Amino acid sequence: MKVLLICLILIAINANVNAEYKSYLNYKLYKVNPKNQDDVNTLKEIQNNGIGEFWNEYFRPEDDVRIMVEPSWENIFLERLKEAKLEVKLIFNNLQEIIYKQKAPRQAGTVRSANSFFSLDWDDYYDLEQINHWLDELAEAYPNIVTTVVMGKSVEDRDIKGIKIDYHPERTDKKIGFLEGTLHAREWISTATITWIVKEFLTSSDPDVRAFAENLEWHIFPIVNPDGYVYTFTGNRMWRKNRSKTNFTSCGANVNDDMSNGVDLNRNFDFVWMTVGASNDPCSNLFAGPSPASEPETQAISQYVLELSDRGEIIYYIAFHSYTQMFVIPFSHVASNQMLAADNYANMFEIAVRSAEKLSQRFGTSYSVGIAANVLYPMSGTSFDWVKNYTNTRISYLIELRDMGEFGFLLPASQIIPNNLEVMDGLIEMDKTTKLLGYYTTADASKIFYSLSVVIFGLMAILVV
Ligand SMILES: [Zn+2]
Repeated sequence: MKVLLICLILIAINANVNAEYKSYLNYKLYKVNPKNQDDVNTLKEIQNNGIGEFWNEYFRPEDDVRIMVEPSWENIFLERLKEAKLEVKLIFNNLQEIIYKQKAPRQAGTVRSANSFFSLDWDDYYDLEQINHWLDELAEAYPNIVTTVVMGKSVEDRDIKGIKIDYHPERTDKKIGFLEGTLHAREWISTATITWIVKEFLTSSDPDVRAFAENLEWHIFPIVNPDGYVYTFTGNRMWRKNRSKTNFTSCGANVNDDMSNGVDLNRNFDFVWMTVGASNDPCSNLFAGPSPASEPETQAISQYVLELSDRGEIIYYIAFHSYTQMFVIPFSHVASNQMLAADNYANMFEIAVRSAEKLSQRFGTSYSVGIAANVLYPMSGTSFDWVKNYTNTRISYLIELRDMGEFGFLLPASQIIPNNLEVMDGLIEMDKTTKLLGYYTTADASKIFYSLSVVIFGLMAILVV
């Protein structure tokens, strides 16, 4: 009887999981290049009518726009494009197949690369539990260097877990580095990049990597949106937001209501919130939340980074996203002609350009560099802008990783290691340039200016007295 009951419960749980899993069977992925504003408007109309699910949140003329179309909408979608004389290219015939391929365990007998480190390697993508377990393994193996840290809880009460890597706990003048991974759930390459950097920090004998690892106290969080990340494994591979259900609403005839069960965490930070490139519609992928910093994940990151900022100087805050291969520099809400808004914009630009150049040398992968208005689209309420504005962080980037849209969010696992190798090259060059510009000796231009001003004002005050 007991066994039967357990069986029934298991069947019920299983049925429930299956019922929730969104299949992309026979969904097609199309690419459309709008040539002018009319074309853009046609695509916006298609988007607003829920005829396709767009990978690009914003698009302009000449952009590569990628659109997933479910089988029942296919004819209407193609008909509408034909009417508007827009060319369309079929990229994938069955998206679910690409999703399976990305998650499928390798066939027995496949040779693993020699790059495994404890229970992780970079031949596959790993889920939250596996990543968190790996972090525990590192803390156990390197007790004097690695400590696990929980910065807070997610909406569904999961730990937001990371590690601190500190080779010099005795140091008093702390220089700090922070790596933020997977704020957007479906951008799996972000997690795989950060875990690789951790492995390099702990194992590399390259003097430049050693300097990068040991000169800073590192705070590294591979997955800051754990609920969303879990949901990309169990519910919907294409999920972007967190899993807050407090704004649940009906999303209209053509959009699944589940779309309203989440806030875009990279629009939720309390800096110029909801001013540009964000939405107040819970059914949008860009939903900024009901109020600034409404989400526990946003609050946890903000609080944690503020505390770090009190303890030392944050040299780097790097948020890893995908896809489109770019270094984005603060601030993201400003127009092109306001690009100098961040105090050390010129330095951040130079550092990123040199980093991108170095990155491209290994495999020819090309990254662009600039503020969001120039390379992406203006946006507000992002984490890396918030950090730059409210803490002492010197260099803050949002890095969009591979690729340019060939696979987009579904980057094959075979590209993880090439991606990681080139990104590491770029980061090492970044650190060398940062050092050259004097950031480690606390003598960057704005600081000298600030110190001089203090001295001059001080002298004036003395003279006046
Ligand atoms: Zn993202």
